[in-house]
Amino acid sequence: MAKAKYVYIFGNKKADGDGSMKALLGGKGANLAEMTRIGLPVPPGFTITTEVCTYYYANKRTYPKELQAQVEAGVANMEKILGKKFGDLNKPLLVAVRSGARDSMPGMMDTILNLGLNDQTVIALEKASGNPRFAWDCYRRFIQMYGDVVMGVQKRPGEDHEPFEIVIDQLKEELFPGQHHVEDTKIDAEGLKELVNRFKALVKDRTGKAFPNNPWDQLKGAVGAVFGSWMNDRAMVYRRKYGIPSEWGTAVNVQAMVFGNTGQNSGSGVAFTRDPASGEKVFYGEFLMNAQGEDVVAGVRTPEPVALLKNEQPKAFAELEKVRKTLESHFKDMQDFEFTIEDGQLFMLQTRNGKRTGLAAVRIAVEMVKEKLITWETAITRVPAEQLDQVLAPVFDRAAVKAAKVIAKGLPAGPGAASGRIYFNADRAVLAAEAKEKVLLVRVETSPEDLRGMIAAEGILTARGGVSSHAALVARQMGKVCVCGASALHVDYANKILIVDGQEFKEGDYLSIDGTLGEVYAGELKTAASEIVQVLVEKSLDAKDSATFRNFKQLMDWCAKATKLLVRTNADSPDQTANAIAFGASGIGLCRTEHMFFEGDRIDAMREMILAENTEDRKKALAKLLPYQREDFIGIFKELKGLPATIRFLDPPLHEFLPHEGSLIRDLSEKIGVTPEKIAKRVAELHEFNPMLGHRGCRLGIAYPEISEMQARAVFEAAVEVQKKGIKVKPEIMIPLVGFPKELQLQIDVVNRVAQEVAKEKKTKLNYLVGTMIEIPRAALVADDIAKDAQFFSFGTNDLTQTTLGMSRDDSGSFLPKYGELEIIKKNPFASIDQTGVGRLMQMAVELGRKTRPDIKLGICGEHGGDPDSVKFCHRIGLNYVSCSPFRVPVARLAAAQAALSEAKAAKTAPKKKKK
Ligand code: PEP
Ligand code: MG
Repeated sequence: MAKAKYVYIFGNKKADGDGSMKALLGGKGANLAEMTRIGLPVPPGFTITTEVCTYYYANKRTYPKELQAQVEAGVANMEKILGKKFGDLNKPLLVAVRSGARDSMPGMMDTILNLGLNDQTVIALEKASGNPRFAWDCYRRFIQMYGDVVMGVQKRPGEDHEPFEIVIDQLKEELFPGQHHVEDTKIDAEGLKELVNRFKALVKDRTGKAFPNNPWDQLKGAVGAVFGSWMNDRAMVYRRKYGIPSEWGTAVNVQAMVFGNTGQNSGSGVAFTRDPASGEKVFYGEFLMNAQGEDVVAGVRTPEPVALLKNEQPKAFAELEKVRKTLESHFKDMQDFEFTIEDGQLFMLQTRNGKRTGLAAVRIAVEMVKEKLITWETAITRVPAEQLDQVLAPVFDRAAVKAAKVIAKGLPAGPGAASGRIYFNADRAVLAAEAKEKVLLVRVETSPEDLRGMIAAEGILTARGGVSSHAALVARQMGKVCVCGASALHVDYANKILIVDGQEFKEGDYLSIDGTLGEVYAGELKTAASEIVQVLVEKSLDAKDSATFRNFKQLMDWCAKATKLLVRTNADSPDQTANAIAFGASGIGLCRTEHMFFEGDRIDAMREMILAENTEDRKKALAKLLPYQREDFIGIFKELKGLPATIRFLDPPLHEFLPHEGSLIRDLSEKIGVTPEKIAKRVAELHEFNPMLGHRGCRLGIAYPEISEMQARAVFEAAVEVQKKGIKVKPEIMIPLVGFPKELQLQIDVVNRVAQEVAKEKKTKLNYLVGTMIEIPRAALVADDIAKDAQFFSFGTNDLTQTTLGMSRDDSGSFLPKYGELEIIKKNPFASIDQTGVGRLMQMAVELGRKTRPDIKLGICGEHGGDPDSVKFCHRIGLNYVSCSPFRVPVARLAAAQAALSEAKAAKTAPKKKKK
């Protein structure tokens, strides 16, 4: 048997792996190999595979026995290439150790630099570089990073500052008494030596252990810390949010150090091949001279825009521009990369597909097609469906902005508009958001421990840090509005106040931020619709020529070409219908008719109907409701202009329509002339212990067929009315909560009888379908029988989920989060279809239904219809359409197109069956 390979080398023109091996080498490792292969200057190193991580957790945190020898060979390879030696007293090899999961993952151990330094090798580095300050700066950084992430010297609960930072500040105070904001670069070699001693003392004091001197022990500790961090709390929070399975594991990259901190000819930077916030094709990013990479992202010093590198290092900048082009033409996507310049020479440390806002994703995808870098099909796959929501996100009302005063400016790190009450601490932000407050998280800078607060907040505002700071990266990915590096802000954590130019804001005060412009305003500003919503919904022509709208439209047009699964909408009014159609809906998939009974006077007629003591009185009350309902349908049919409309008959239990409190009962009594006692008695009669499983759905129409009769009449009379105007009408009448074929048959009889009556009265023909919801498990189990009568099925996955899982859709909040944490369920089943459980029932119903009636129309109308993963699932099981709320229509259309493309791709790559 071939020996297991756990270590893959890269750099210096030779790589064992390549860019396609992300599952095994992690994103970082695979791309370091790929960059090596295309001739970019990558310092040599090796990747320990994700399989080792899996082994580590499956075997009580131990390693495969072959690993040590392979790691030693990897180190030997670097030594050979560079002519240095690990732990050597003349030419010591120093390495960086970085984690690297398949997708980059904030929250995990990130980087340890300068590993291999100790009390002896630091002297060697001092001699070899002729630069004592540099050597001791490297050493103190190493102790700081290693002490923090490997040995656990971290902030304790209640502490506001990192312990190492406190030691640095103390030393600075001693060296530069009374001077504030002295940069670390001002500390000389002697000062740094002292810092090393104090750091070591801190480590000993906090951990009881001495700082390890042996480079091999250091390496072992660092590798263990990377694997250990895969299961830390922050990484798990992140994985849960993004649905990343814990089985994936992380890889570890060990790479020879290059130094951006050797002096003014060196530097480190992070850059994007295009602007990740707007998508514009400009070289974007930032750098710091005489700094190591961590300084750029840590927000300790504010970096300079990458364009200015041209003045400082023209040769390296020209090379970097070339690299930018090479990366895009090779990876054919926007890249986010890290580089270091060591004494004027450029090195590449990482590249990956850059995270971007929804706005940027759409623009980059569309422009790359124009540039012939990618096809339109690829463009569709480049925009995460969920992110499309962001381009529909609100902006500030223009008039409100004009009237408001900008109190501070920062970097526009996450576009959109957000207003909220400010909180300076993640926990308090979470509590406030749970109490339904709109929250802005305001921090000097953020770190992964703020993640929960960032998730809870509408927007994030920081005083320090650049466009690649933690706050900016995470906000962009989450689609949160973010302004960072607003240096005029003075955040006083201790007193919970924010001071801006002398003005004080307490925790809980309102601020507003514009993440597209990077502006901060006092107070709560009114928000306005996005340009796309302005054009499509508000019918304003102003924004029609905006690039944002044109790009969006282009993408949607391509989706229409690719898609098989149609997208309908859940709408109960003409306005909602019009909005959904503007977003490209191909009809209504669910019109919840009960919603029409809540407006104005209608509720009174509805209540009269419920309170009626006999059929005669009930019919009288229903006759009052008929014109309302007919008018609504007329409005909807007109907006649909011939597109189909699935109209569901009354579904909720009747008690939902009645008042329960004494004063409201008295009000109603006066209005409709029924005594309060009678009303209270009826309310009591209708009380159910479990209304969701009680007298609702088709059970209402069966007990009171006159309700269904009225609804059918309203639909057909409206149809006749609209048809007369030359507009086609395609009603699809849907019976809810069916479990027994007979239930459906009884309701179909009513519908057909009324249709005949109306057709006769109006001397016209009516085209319609009658079908059912599949929303309780029995319906799925006997779908073949039900399909004998049903002309269509629509999966009501809200009820189907609650009845299949036996979990109330309204009361699961108390335990579902725990289920997520324990990974009992991967995603909230009420948001994303439980594919292995509920999904299996759906698949079965599809097969049974089609067996009886091959052309049966199949759709879904539960909330899942707007969830991209569920949309893709619906495509796979062969539904004809999904239906979702109007503003989710673009997201669902994109997901549907992506599903069709991935199916086509799979068909192309599947092995062809041999001809006999
Ligand atoms: C459903 O159950 O999925 C559904 C669409 O119906 P409702 O949410 O109105 O119960
Ligand atoms: Mg339902």
